[in-house]
Amino acid sequence: MDWLAVEKRHDSGVYAKSDFVVTRGEGAYVWDTEGNRYLDLINGIGVGFLGHGHPKVVEAIKAQAERLMVLPQVFASDRRAEFYKALTDVLPESLTRVFPTNSGTEAVEAALKFARAATGKKKFVAAMRSFHGRTFGSLSLTWEKKYREPFMPLVEPVEFIPYNDVEALERAVDEETAALILEPVQGEGGVRPATEAFLKAARRRTEEVGALLVLDEIQTGLGRTGRLFAFEHYGVVPDVLTLAKPLGGGFPLGAMVTTDAVADKMPKGAHGSTFGGNPLAMAAGTAAIRAVVEERLWERAGRLGEVFMEALRKIQSPKIREVRGKGLMVGIELKEKAAPYLKRLAEEHRILGLQAGANVMRFLPPAVVTEEELLSAARAVGEVLDEGK
Ligand SMILES: *Cc1c(COP(=O)(O)O)cnc(C)c1O
Repeated sequence: MDWLAVEKRHDSGVYAKSDFVVTRGEGAYVWDTEGNRYLDLINGIGVGFLGHGHPKVVEAIKAQAERLMVLPQVFASDRRAEFYKALTDVLPESLTRVFPTNSGTEAVEAALKFARAATGKKKFVAAMRSFHGRTFGSLSLTWEKKYREPFMPLVEPVEFIPYNDVEALERAVDEETAALILEPVQGEGGVRPATEAFLKAARRRTEEVGALLVLDEIQTGLGRTGRLFAFEHYGVVPDVLTLAKPLGGGFPLGAMVTTDAVADKMPKGAHGSTFGGNPLAMAAGTAAIRAVVEERLWERAGRLGEVFMEALRKIQSPKIREVRGKGLMVGIELKEKAAPYLKRLAEEHRILGLQAGANVMRFLPPAVVTEEELLSAARAVGEVLDEGK
């Protein structure tokens, strides 16, 4: 069967599609139907921080699939309790209450609804170049025009401020504001870390006016940036934290985590999710959190990220504007479009990377990648950028 043709015929068409069909993954690698092996530095857009098929996650899913897969949240579950404990144990003590979801955008939706319910206010403030998801609520806080404009009108009022602009933040976050939502390192928007002054101002100003600070760590959370949570780099604790991508170790799982004060203001029955908090996802999540914590993978991510970025910074190419990132979240901003170089990287070197905006080559390697693999990837990037030319 020509699976590529079948998929292309019936696909919704919202994604540009590779011209190979991926069938299997293990650790930092995936294989296609032709038997080609690729070094996967995308890993499900940051989902596979533990790599593909981490044995502890696979084991947990197998065991729980046989026991119980689904259970609405009106019934208490041993697996759910275990997940809540595993997660809140590694968070600051103010973050006590969890709303489990099936994706990142649902965690953001929950954050927005909890914020309005808890503050009684309406306005949201987000950053330019932000990415918070694709459903109407989260899309309303996502910057990229191309994602938003066909679907107007969206949730209002929303004010966008330049990222890392403290004065703009202090002006925009006012008495009418329910929440300010920020990524500690912007992912999709080009791999841009926040400054400490900006996140500190975010914390101070939201407190001043009674707004909530929501940190969207869907991409940065659970070890990728060199700390278990990126906010630890900044000494800032949010009122609401959104998590997803790596949280289920590859299984679809997200969570909104908040304080007692916020959660207590949400009326019973005012929010919910049929699949959210199902025991299968909870088992995967607990296994993933434990694997990251037991292996202290944030330390590995921090160290390997430095090695990778240092190698990339040595590439002598006039096409590179900047190499930046935090831990294993790495961007190379080019002076031209990134797509052709990513295509060459996949075709000529069998290394998978992705775009962040038009000009940035983005890499989200799994923590199981080796130093040698990252150095060879950096050499390949140098080659496709025709080093020196
Ligand atoms: C990926 C991402 C989302 C959306 O998550 P989905 O699971 O795709 O809905 C939201 N915020 C950030 C920062 C992300 O990286």
